[in-house]
Amino acid sequence: MGYLSAVSDCELFWIEEPFPENRNELLRLKEHMVKIGCKALTADGETRTERAEKWWRYGEYSQRHIDNLFSLAEEKLVDVFVLDLGIVGFTNWRCIMPELERAGVKASPHTWGWIPRPYYVAQLAAGVGNVIIVEGIPGRTEGVDYSAYEIVEGQVLVLNEPGFGLKLE
Ligand SMILES: [Mg+2]
Repeated sequence: MGYLSAVSDCELFWIEEPFPENRNELLRLKEHMVKIGCKALTADGETRTERAEKWWRYGEYSQRHIDNLFSLAEEKLVDVFVLDLGIVGFTNWRCIMPELERAGVKASPHTWGWIPRPYYVAQLAAGVGNVIIVEGIPGRTEGVDYSAYEIVEGQVLVLNEPGFGLKLE
């Protein structure tokens, strides 16, 4: 809380997983944010502590995890879901995005760990919308040509080409 007060003039964009899916701590945080006028978004949900018994529209996340996230969103304690791109699954993301929108929640699928995935998320954002920001991963995968992608004034230009516009060299 002291940190947030100290950077209150910095217009933080978001605070990611300060207390993963912990209602009471998130409530305390949000109350403090209101008190100091901090308008940062809270992002949560990527941590998978248990697996779904079977694959469903939220992929390998458990029903309990998803229900908890939506109830946190309903209380306005979580503004952005950072569910993992691959744990949910790309096709599933297309199906669940309207559910997030109806709940007033933005998405920023977690990408870290697999270098091409920010480009997949950029494609998802262009296709279905409701992605507030694309998590970037610095670096390049050997053997993949990323040159067709450009970032112009903070916007990724997304290609309408097969294979997410990435070519194997
Ligand atoms: Mg993350």
